[in-house]
Amino acid sequence: MAEPPAFREAVIDLAALTANVAHLREVVGTEHLMAVVKANGYGHGAVECARAALAGGADWLGVADLGEAVQLREAGIDAPILAWLHDPDADFLPAIEAGIDIGVSSAAQLDAVAAARRRLVTEGRLHGQAFVQVKLETGLSRNGVSEPEWAEAFAKARALERAGDIVVRGIFSHVSNASPEDDAIAIAVFTRGLAAAAAAGLTPELRHLAASAAALRIPDARFNLVRLGIGIYGLAPFEGVTSAELGLRPVMTLRGRVAAVRRVPADTGISYDYTYRTKQETTLALVPLGYAEGIPRHASNRATVAIGGRTFPVRGRVAMDQFVVDVGDHAVQVGDEVVLFGDPTTGVPSAEDWAEAAGTINYEIVTRIGSRVRRTYVGRP
Ligand SMILES: *Cc1c(COP(=O)(O)O)cnc(C)c1O
Repeated sequence: MAEPPAFREAVIDLAALTANVAHLREVVGTEHLMAVVKANGYGHGAVECARAALAGGADWLGVADLGEAVQLREAGIDAPILAWLHDPDADFLPAIEAGIDIGVSSAAQLDAVAAARRRLVTEGRLHGQAFVQVKLETGLSRNGVSEPEWAEAFAKARALERAGDIVVRGIFSHVSNASPEDDAIAIAVFTRGLAAAAAAGLTPELRHLAASAAALRIPDARFNLVRLGIGIYGLAPFEGVTSAELGLRPVMTLRGRVAAVRRVPADTGISYDYTYRTKQETTLALVPLGYAEGIPRHASNRATVAIGGRTFPVRGRVAMDQFVVDVGDHAVQVGDEVVLFGDPTTGVPSAEDWAEAAGTINYEIVTRIGSRVRRTYVGRP
């Protein structure tokens, strides 16, 4: 990171991501590891992160939307991809053509996938299969086939499979992390679901329940694939646990350049509404990132940043494009690098520090980094 920072920049350390995946693969020990790169790779850049994750030993990629999956294909990534959250009127045809596994949460979606595949075959456009992975509802109250509907959905899936319309490659669900007891119940429900699928004649190659938190803490939740998001980006899925404690390195460093510096007397109001007034004569530095960059306004007067190896407090409201820090009597200059967060073992604040300041979680901090922030990739595989 010897280069001078851009005005607003997220430096993405792909070597850290590759190492995180390799480390998690060791720790978890499952046959398969799915790197979750939805939401533009949690704000880090989906395509670059997907490649780095594959280099670290991930053998699957996971996204929410079909469009995200198609984008990975268009970038030339040919690894297996699963997408699991669909528009009610989704056209599954492009996804099938692109060889994307479709997560299905209802009998209606099974029918829609089968119909799309039959159309492709009729039109002479398809050479492969239409792979689906059936999502079961096991307690989150989100999507997935719920237990009373299993028999009918599995029978339909098996019939469509026999007809050659689909292949049921996986059965999966997701846990709440509400408590060990709640997760144990979800594991039991999921295990019943696998038995019901087997009873219907389905032989899914992939069985998966755990995201980062459950993969790390609950060996029984691992089955033969884990879907890892936050952990591959080097961030802990648990509050009060650091990245280093999990053997992970944060992938994103968010930084910028000090845009202005001014010496002010005591009792100077700062930013909108003067929610802070200086206690004494001091120096203020202007940081050109605001809530349009995803910097939480809730962190006003609460977060800190690092400049020249020291940390300084945010003072006054975070505005759309900028905020102010109080650097005291330190010799901060226009153009200096200001690090909002990165790897805390290097003395800078962490994404968790910002999350705590804003009353949220590290996931939200990195995922919301906006489009005016240049992504700079280092350590490409
Ligand atoms: C986002 C997501 C994941 C990844 O979760 P992490 O906690 O970031 O590891 C896994 N599975 C599903 C279904 C998800 O929506």
